[in-house]
Amino acid sequence: MKKITVIGAGTMGNGIAHVFAMHGYSVNLVDISADALDKALKTISRNLDRIIKKELITEQKKAETIANIHTYTNMADGLKDAELVIEAATENVDLKLKIFAQIDELSADSTILATNTSSISITRIAAVTKRPEQVIGMHFMNPVPVMKLVEVIRGYATSDEVTQTVMELSKKLGKSPVEVNDYPGFVANRILMPMINEAIYSLYEGVAGVQEIDTVMKLGMAHPMGPLHLADFIGLDVCLSILNVLHQGFGNPKYAPCPLLVNMVTAGKLGVKSGEGFYKHTAGSKELIVAKKFQ
Ligand code: NAD
Repeated sequence: MKKITVIGAGTMGNGIAHVFAMHGYSVNLVDISADALDKALKTISRNLDRIIKKELITEQKKAETIANIHTYTNMADGLKDAELVIEAATENVDLKLKIFAQIDELSADSTILATNTSSISITRIAAVTKRPEQVIGMHFMNPVPVMKLVEVIRGYATSDEVTQTVMELSKKLGKSPVEVNDYPGFVANRILMPMINEAIYSLYEGVAGVQEIDTVMKLGMAHPMGPLHLADFIGLDVCLSILNVLHQGFGNPKYAPCPLLVNMVTAGKLGVKSGEGFYKHTAGSKELIVAKKFQ
């Protein structure tokens, strides 16, 4: 496999393009927004500079990596000759179903279609294509160039051969793929989100404050970041939407999102991206945070 197309050039799309291009693949990066493509190239360049500073790659390697990335606002052009398409567009079911129907129409019969979705059913996405056995989840973690895990999600119809190809490919990128089946939240979010929700419930019920809850999990469980701080980074709206997928998908009340989380999202307190969640975040700095007082 030599040619990859990435659909969506946001946080995840630019990271995925970066990693493939650095490993010598020719990457077509597609976004409906020319501005997003421009920003993605700048982010990739900045992230490569960071690796050069650590003396892990040379200027020459950076130039080769950037030269491997081609940007498109037109999906048909961007899909030309793609052997694998990885969709990393906005997390919205209707949008993803529309994109997959389009990709299916425009791609060669042999092309494998992957999605980086955090929570939407792979089986449901595959059902809008004429090749459900060639549709698979390739769930990279943020930030993609740094995080080792790829959760490889088999839809109901995904073939052994396609799963094997995607597992091997992930290893070639220096990642550690893990194969999982297609049920709500897959594995990563099925375990992470109830933990975050429970941390929010502990705060909501007055068991402890923001800093105290995060300190317990950091020092007691050796987590690099407390669950409330992590929720701020992921985005409280994203956490709420994944909890809703778990709640609806399993029909089990244990996944019901904490009312405090619902209130905060309704009030527009979304974490780092809005400047305030469980902490106050200073614009432009990921480090300067102050825990908010609740109750
Ligand atoms: P993002 O909002 O940063 O980027 C999404 C991009 O998709 C935008 O640039 C947007 O212009 C583009 N887009 C929208 N509609 C499009 C279309 N029809 N064609 C082409 N491009 C289109 O989102 P993100 O955080 O990069 O998330 C992308 C996917 O990755 C989502 O499915 C999300 O659930 C998943 N994911 C996100 C994270 C994370 O931490 N951000 C982690 C794992 C998985």
